[in-house]
Amino acid sequence: MTEPFGAYVHLPYCPYKCHYCDFNAYRLPRAEGARADMAQAIASEIAQAPGLDASRRVTSIFFGGGTPSLFRPGEIRAIIEALRSRYDVSSAAEVTLECNPGTVDLSSLRALRRAGVNRLSIGAQSFSAETLRRIGRLHTPEETRDAVRAARAAGFNNISLDVIYGLPGEAPEDSLRSVQEAISLGIEHLSAYALELESGTLFGRLAARGELPLPQEEDVVRAGDLVAQACERAGLARYEVSNFARSGRRARHNMLYWHQGSYRGFGPGAHSHLFGRRFWNVSPPGEYLRRVAAGGEAVEDEEVLSPTAQMGEWVYLRLRLSEGFSLASFARRFGRPLDAAYPGVRETLCAQGLLEAVPLWVRPTPKGRWLLHRVAEPFLA
Ligand code: SF4
Repeated sequence: MTEPFGAYVHLPYCPYKCHYCDFNAYRLPRAEGARADMAQAIASEIAQAPGLDASRRVTSIFFGGGTPSLFRPGEIRAIIEALRSRYDVSSAAEVTLECNPGTVDLSSLRALRRAGVNRLSIGAQSFSAETLRRIGRLHTPEETRDAVRAARAAGFNNISLDVIYGLPGEAPEDSLRSVQEAISLGIEHLSAYALELESGTLFGRLAARGELPLPQEEDVVRAGDLVAQACERAGLARYEVSNFARSGRRARHNMLYWHQGSYRGFGPGAHSHLFGRRFWNVSPPGEYLRRVAAGGEAVEDEEVLSPTAQMGEWVYLRLRLSEGFSLASFARRFGRPLDAAYPGVRETLCAQGLLEAVPLWVRPTPKGRWLLHRVAEPFLA
């Protein structure tokens, strides 16, 4: 059996910069041809990438960003074709494209579908027009609804929406209303993240000065619980801390990350994990374009995880999944029992109510899911 293998493509341009955004994303340059140049450079990077052994087959492709839907469908198609020329891409591969409301319409979505994209991840973030304005997003809730309707009409049957809760000025009930609106669109998958404040963002700076009306921590926890309950009631089962899906609709590409699988990233700042070795590309688009044009490596640096670090990371990533992991799977992977690798840790976390006290299995409790960093700490130390 071939092991899953993913390709990640980073398209770094956005029409604007959201107030909370810490991604490797930049305003689309004014220069005509900026998108075409980037798509062309990524296709060249793919063409120059080392091959994989014959047993590896690409089972998922993910276009992230940035706002990949700012790129023309023909540019996305050219990148998919470059991947198909370089690698053995499964005909059943999940091909996801992140898009933002206001940047797609029926005609572009039909063209994307024809290009081979079969899953959309739409950045809704909120269904309150006022909240969207407050967080610096220049689309409306109606544009999100239009995007989902157009995607259905274009033949997409696998649609995910992203929402953020714990936003400034929002009560838990506001977050719940947004998620209920998202669910009412009949989507197959929902990602719901609590707002994170990063120091390099406008929100990070405002928060540091005490000028951001952030909800209290207990309200964020309550919002997260309300969101999860609404999803579960609607048949979207929680399968990861922040992700909910209908049966058979888990994000296959993201499951690869949580299973510590192998993937190759292309584009500015894209990360790769190839059989225990991690490396990443230079982040600024200009430098990336220069390096690829000069026929050089876009890779900036690499890291090889020690066996201990790999083991800790494996545990942490599995703990993010609702099913956790079996003691047998740990022993199979690392050649020794979990309790021998981390003496006393499981017992202590069970006693603290952070891990479920079930035989043969390791799974966080609802409290442990909220305090995942505390659960993971002794494994990552
Ligand atoms: S659309 Fe996404 S990537 Fe672009 S600025 Fe906003 S949050 Fe960042």
